[in-house]
Amino acid sequence: MTDSLVLPANDWPEFQPGWVWLCGAGPGDPGLLTLHGLNALSQADVIVHDALVSADILNWAGDRAKRIDAGKRAGRASPKQAEITRLLTDHARRGKRVLRLKGGDPFVFGRGGEEAQDLVRNGVPIRLIPGISAGIGGLAYAGIPATHRDVNQAVTFLTGHDPAGDTPPLDWGAISRGSQVIVIYMGLRTMSAISQALQEAGRPADEPVAVVSDASLPTQRVLETTLEKAAQDIRQAGVTAPAIICIGKAVLMRQVLDWQSMASGAPPRNSDPLGLTTAPPRK
Ligand code: SAH
Repeated sequence: MTDSLVLPANDWPEFQPGWVWLCGAGPGDPGLLTLHGLNALSQADVIVHDALVSADILNWAGDRAKRIDAGKRAGRASPKQAEITRLLTDHARRGKRVLRLKGGDPFVFGRGGEEAQDLVRNGVPIRLIPGISAGIGGLAYAGIPATHRDVNQAVTFLTGHDPAGDTPPLDWGAISRGSQVIVIYMGLRTMSAISQALQEAGRPADEPVAVVSDASLPTQRVLETTLEKAAQDIRQAGVTAPAIICIGKAVLMRQVLDWQSMASGAPPRNSDPLGLTTAPPRK
């Protein structure tokens, strides 16, 4: 660990040889790594990380730590899940302290659950270090609260595709009726089908949608659109992965809560985006 990044005094867990710690790195901004994550980096012998984990975070690892990019394989396609599990298991069995570093939270659409299951099946002991998921922290970086008392009492997180790459076989009617805010991971490619399914299930065509790409990174971009136009606007704007899509009135809150614009001195676009000034005061 660099001198400037000393962990505060605490009873930090000791990384035992032969263990795999599965750790979430957050959506991108290195500051969103947890202190448990930093503790893990400082002790790991081997770090197996995803492509989405930023170089700045990896630079906090000890100098002697071996880094393996599981998102790449020297010009070939990314390794299969079974290969990654084998890699983790082999290093653990050789008595290494193995840190598996994944983007966001390992247990949210990141196959962390499968990986953990396979390791346990192989007799490898694990520890889980949660991370800030893109669907919450990434949206917050765009000024969009995942929940807000005036907007939603429920939020649904869903993946834009099933293992075959198709739109997932979800009950769109139930989601449409049951969740005022819908947050989609990996949804760029299937957004057209999802928009259509939600509109057929009764969601308004002009419902606000935000597409946040590279959330929390210096390259963050936010596209504001509507349910009807989302897929077309994504194409036209050339939005690329990783991107998180938020559907619902929570998107309007960005007009007042876009805190990143405040740094450049911009005033809020609208102090009352939901038009609630005439509503009775909150209890
Ligand atoms: N475990 C991760 C999700 C892995 S799936 C988490 O909890 O965040 C990968 C998808 O996550 C991407 O396709 C994208 O939809 C989303 N994602 C991850 N990082 C992101 C980022 N910085 N900005 C926008 N979306 C991101």
